[in-house]
Amino acid sequence: MVVRYFDAHSHVHFSQFTDDISEVLTRMREAGVSTITVGCDHVTSHAARDFAHAYGLYATAGLHPSDNRAEPLDEEGIRELLKDERVVAVGECGLDYSRLGENPDEEKERQKDVFRRQVALAVEADKPVMIHCRASGKDAEQNTDAHEDCLAILKEFPGVRPILHFFTGSPEIAAKYSALDAYFSFSGVVTFAPMYNATILAVPINRILTETDAPYASPAPYRGKRNEPAYIVETLNYIADTRGLPEEEMRERVLKNVQEAFGISL
Ligand SMILES: [Zn+2]
Repeated sequence: MVVRYFDAHSHVHFSQFTDDISEVLTRMREAGVSTITVGCDHVTSHAARDFAHAYGLYATAGLHPSDNRAEPLDEEGIRELLKDERVVAVGECGLDYSRLGENPDEEKERQKDVFRRQVALAVEADKPVMIHCRASGKDAEQNTDAHEDCLAILKEFPGVRPILHFFTGSPEIAAKYSALDAYFSFSGVVTFAPMYNATILAVPINRILTETDAPYASPAPYRGKRNEPAYIVETLNYIADTRGLPEEEMRERVLKNVQEAFGISL
């Protein structure tokens, strides 16, 4: 398959797709879409690796900051998975201050520790780190607490290759990540929330990635439905329009960015 679009962050190996996975994969092939299917814990990271091999896709290995709080970080398991050429990043990992629970200070420290150890694994393997970073409060308030802590941790690791998954930060926050040579992955929410246009315009063109985060967060015109990698086309076209570039040029630019960010050739 000639890859025309790249969904840098999906969970296409999750159970939401089990019943109709062959149709989902057919729609991807017809649209020329490849993806990185992302692990969130021990079980889904191993499953992501197996899925990537079965279908010629890519995977990540890591522990989500808040989806599976009781699970200890399996550093040896992640280190093993990272030896696989189809496992192209550590993650998704990071900080999620939007749901800290009953002991927020303790939970923040736990998240920081688990994140820091995964950044270390990524640097050791010389692979990028796929970051989930969500500040406390509503997005519209543009709180920066989690981003400030995330930036501080990243700065501890020279050579880190950060990829901000589902990036919804302000242009100011984007500039701070840009100083660390980060990539910004925009999801379908940008297609119906114009508040993110300023950020899309602010980040360097050679640092833009696109993602679905499927099965979550469908772009317009599929809002409310299960998301899937083939819908990445909507997000790419929206970003092209926002940047004032022909869709074809933006499409090629993103494919180039993907190959540079993950060190893969499509
Ligand atoms: Zn995700």
